[in-house]
Amino acid sequence: MRPSAINYMNTHILPSFEYYEPKSLGEALELLDRLGGDAKVLAGGTDLLVKMKTGALRPKYIVNIKRIPGLRYIRLEEGVLRIGALTTWHDLEEDPVVERFPALADAVKQMGGLQIRVMGTIAGNLCNASPAADAAPPLLVYDAEVVLASVKGVRTVKLEDFFVGPGKTVMQPNELLVEIRVPAKGGSSAFVKLSRTSMDLAIASAAVYAEFEGEVVKEARVALGSVAPTPIRARKTEAVLKGRRVSEEGLIELLRTVSEEVNPITDVRASAWYRREVSRVLVYDALLKAFERSRGGRA
Ligand SMILES: Cc1cc2nc3c(=O)[nH]c(=O)nc-3n(C[C@H](O)[C@H](O)[C@H](O)COP(=O)(O)OP(=O)(O)OC[C@H]3O[C@@H](n4cnc5c(N)ncnc54)[C@H](O)[C@@H]3O)c2cc1C
Repeated sequence: MRPSAINYMNTHILPSFEYYEPKSLGEALELLDRLGGDAKVLAGGTDLLVKMKTGALRPKYIVNIKRIPGLRYIRLEEGVLRIGALTTWHDLEEDPVVERFPALADAVKQMGGLQIRVMGTIAGNLCNASPAADAAPPLLVYDAEVVLASVKGVRTVKLEDFFVGPGKTVMQPNELLVEIRVPAKGGSSAFVKLSRTSMDLAIASAAVYAEFEGEVVKEARVALGSVAPTPIRARKTEAVLKGRRVSEEGLIELLRTVSEEVNPITDVRASAWYRREVSRVLVYDALLKAFERSRGGRA
């Protein structure tokens, strides 16, 4: 190990970099285009600065987007929840409109501690592309999209197509995620997270969106976190759930499809075996929670 690397790890001193603070979106996009892959966007910094302090990342340039006006908003317009790039988890926690998206509201309440929710942005959570990102499973079951801007223009990407691997997305180095779009739906939803402590990343997590007729699942969408290289939709399991009664005996056994759809690793938080086993239980719990909510329960 090189002496400088030892130094970073022991002292947690940031490596040196050039710092930019654009005052407009246009200026930020120009900068990212010019600086290319050597630049990193800084939003709340709760992921980025940790990686820089441990030496995992050493960007030459930092582009702090926090001073750009007009990127911090939560709006429900024509049935679509629009979340600006600089919206923090705490902003979401404080806005009653988020309660209309119960799986997202569940994730917001379980994300980190207050300091992290005040600093961290939900867009940063997606761009960091951790398989454990709490925002991902709820947004996946709502069929959310992200809007990416660059000097060349704007493109919209389905969140399901956004993640390509641990820490990797389809975003180009000159792009900025400017908005998250979440269509409002008529069904019920829930997110559950299993973690070692209340402030830790998920061992595994699951979100379910479902439409019920009585006890019967008419429509189901299932997504999981921390059980594959990216957050995933579990489409086989969605097909299994369709037409089933929530009270059906052995439903949790039928959810073994979840274990087939995940591809977990062993790490400090849990073994791959445990993650595979617990995934279907989390999906089952999220389904029951969504069902209770559909009946007006306070689950
Ligand atoms: C103590 C602690 C507890 C945590 N607990 C949780 C938890 O429970 N659940 C969880 O999911 N996460 C957790 N995290 C991780 C982190 O807080 C979140 O992922 C947070 O939402 C990141 O947002 P940020 O604004 O701080 O991102 P930053 O650190 O600023 O950026 C993260 C990455 O995204 C890029 N980026 C940020 N915004 C944009 C943008 N608009 N366009 C393009 N690229 C962008 C950055 O370049 C960087 O690569 C925790 C972190 C810490 C330190």
